Amino acid sequence: MTGNPDCKKKEHKMHMCALKAEGFDKKKPVKFMALTENPQYKCENCGAKANKAENLCKPVEL
Ligand SMILES: [Zn+2]
Ligand SMILES: [Zn+2]
Repeated sequence: MTGNPDCKKKEHKMHMCALKAEGFDKKKPVKFMALTENPQYKCENCGAKANKAENLCKPVEL
């Protein structure tokens, strides 16, 4: 799958790995910022930070 071939979750298209691989941070910077403005978790796969664990493939608490 885009950004992380190991992620089997059906929500992967909303994960930071996939969003970054698609250029979502460039195409929709405001929406992307909203997902990352108050990060509580980071992704063990790509290192991206996010407000919610549900937006990461392998969330770990910051
Ligand atoms: Zn990731
Ligand atoms: Zn994923």
